[in-house]
Amino acid sequence: MKTSTKDCRLVFRITAFFAALVLAVSCSHKPEPVNENTAASQQPAGTGIEECLTKSPDDKQKIAVQKSLDQLRHARRATESVMIDVAFHVLYKAPGAANGEVDQATLNKQIDVLNAAYSGTPFKFRLASVDKTLNVSWFNMVQDSADEVLAKSRLGIKRKEVLNFYTGGGGNWSTFPWDVSAELDLDGVVCTFSTLPGGSSSSNNEGDVAVHEVGHWLGLFHTFEGKCTADNDLVSDTPAEQIAATANCPIGRDTCPGASFPGLDPVTNYMDYGTDACRKEFTSEQVSRMDAMHALYRKP
Ligand SMILES: [Zn+2]
Repeated sequence: MKTSTKDCRLVFRITAFFAALVLAVSCSHKPEPVNENTAASQQPAGTGIEECLTKSPDDKQKIAVQKSLDQLRHARRATESVMIDVAFHVLYKAPGAANGEVDQATLNKQIDVLNAAYSGTPFKFRLASVDKTLNVSWFNMVQDSADEVLAKSRLGIKRKEVLNFYTGGGGNWSTFPWDVSAELDLDGVVCTFSTLPGGSSSSNNEGDVAVHEVGHWLGLFHTFEGKCTADNDLVSDTPAEQIAATANCPIGRDTCPGASFPGLDPVTNYMDYGTDACRKEFTSEQVSRMDAMHALYRKP
């Protein structure tokens, strides 16, 4: 059952969605909404890597999103021309790196990893601020919890263009850009501290979990979002994929075979579920989508 808080948020989302539709008609740009759980993006069993809990819009909302982008197509902005300020919010349960008290050097490395991964895109990242909070409940916050609302409301920088980056111990997820106006307090990414560069996660400790979550923050879906459908992740140059990549990086796999779905599974894509050693690329159309999404929803 949904909590009253979630009910309020859903009403907010619906209201924001229709308000955005009205705006879209007048400016020929488009809105996009998001919604509660669909199973499409949930992790299949057996992937064995850091789980991503980012939710998906439902099909109607995806269509609205895509229509908005189709009308927004424009020349991609120049490489590294868009600076994104990153506000780190370190949540820890006790003093010490083993308890989530991430040090400055690790945060700097995470910025470096983001910049390397996004080097072929319009985006560049710089560390803007760091705050650290000793709070066991906030450290363990999970998606849609009261602690998430409390922690983010208290700590988040309330500007839609700032990347609020929370580290804790409760999982990995992100908000989508089309939610930013309705849910500015919740905007941002959350990563388990052990996934940051040099962390204790066995197969995801190079900082690519953050690269993946920031991809969501800029409007990308998982590469297996729509499974073997023509639209799949609404990106034209990522082949359709039935299930997420497994931890062994199954290069050459084709879970949507046949002429209707040409191309091997994009298991090395940052938006799949390969390990950090496996994930290493965005496609050109993913970059264009992120650029358009940012220009539409986050540009100051
Ligand atoms: Zn994800």
